[in-house]
Amino acid sequence: MKIKEVIARLEQRFPLYWQEDFDNCGIQCGDKEREVTGIMICFDMSEKVIDEAISKNCNMVISHHPIIYKTGLKKIEPTNRVGKVVCKALENKILLYSMHTNMDSGIEGGNVLFAQKLGLQNLEVLAPKTDMFRKLIVFVPQADADHLKQSLFDAGAGELGKYQHCSYSTDGKGSFLPVEGANPAIGTVGTEEQVAELKLEVIFPVALQKKVVETLFAHHPYEEPAFDILKLENLNYHVGLGRVGTLPEPMELTEFLQFAKKQLNLEVIKYSGKIGRKIQKVAVCGGGGASYVSDALAMNADIYLTGDIKYHDYFIPENRMVVADIGHFEGENFIRDIIYNEINKIFTNFASYISEDEKLEISWI
Ligand SMILES: [Zn+2]
Repeated sequence: MKIKEVIARLEQRFPLYWQEDFDNCGIQCGDKEREVTGIMICFDMSEKVIDEAISKNCNMVISHHPIIYKTGLKKIEPTNRVGKVVCKALENKILLYSMHTNMDSGIEGGNVLFAQKLGLQNLEVLAPKTDMFRKLIVFVPQADADHLKQSLFDAGAGELGKYQHCSYSTDGKGSFLPVEGANPAIGTVGTEEQVAELKLEVIFPVALQKKVVETLFAHHPYEEPAFDILKLENLNYHVGLGRVGTLPEPMELTEFLQFAKKQLNLEVIKYSGKIGRKIQKVAVCGGGGASYVSDALAMNADIYLTGDIKYHDYFIPENRMVVADIGHFEGENFIRDIIYNEINKIFTNFASYISEDEKLEISWI
């Protein structure tokens, strides 16, 4: 099996268009045409992880954090951390691949697992992804509508959360007059034609626009298909960073913090806020989620758990919500398990490993 086939299956589950605009998910370097020998899964790429991959005969390393990220990278030399890792991987014919915010934001991704570890119910997305959808409206002869619709579905149109093949159609009548030089699929040059048509509407992710339009032209019978593409203001309520949910029973703040420490295997939680009520609605965002404090507050969370909180962020809610920093690594390290389980569920013809040596390199005394 080629590496590109593994990637295709992973991206079916966690498409790259789920990633945030600032991100760089997917292939970092390497040749996806090679046969897979084994996969090493890690949190951060390092020379140590590449050595481990070499020792276990893995030619694909999948990390959570991209190694090439917001660097403005212009050249790669083994003179810094990124260069050393990339050079070593390429010298050893290892492909580097990352599943970052496409995994964090995804349906059944990192933040969902985070929320599940706390037993949260009725999950909503904390920061739904914006500007993600377009709508295609196309007019097609009724006889050709099913074929076109199926082709658009196959290209990835018509997906809404856990529903596929979503569309809406209305019957109508189209008219056209082919003029000199036209080659009409129906009717003749110089004669006005009226055809029973279907107005078909489907939404699709903006990242698939080229593919959807190419599919439309390939499968629509007309020489000049009539269609509209509309920009939608809809948020994606299924995909986005963070989750908000409710505990089955309210807890006192200290009781909840002890519970969270146990469930997430934490050494310490840093928090602020005296809300004067029990904790029931909980917002979470794995990694560095300081920029979503106001979103959690707007969703009436009692507490927001994330990492990388700065001093002033603690005071944004003015005691209307507790802000708790559990650490960046601690809120996402279990993502390695999701990737490992996903790979083992699908592929049985090569070995995969979670990096053994990797642990938090930050200490407290
Ligand atoms: Zn992170």
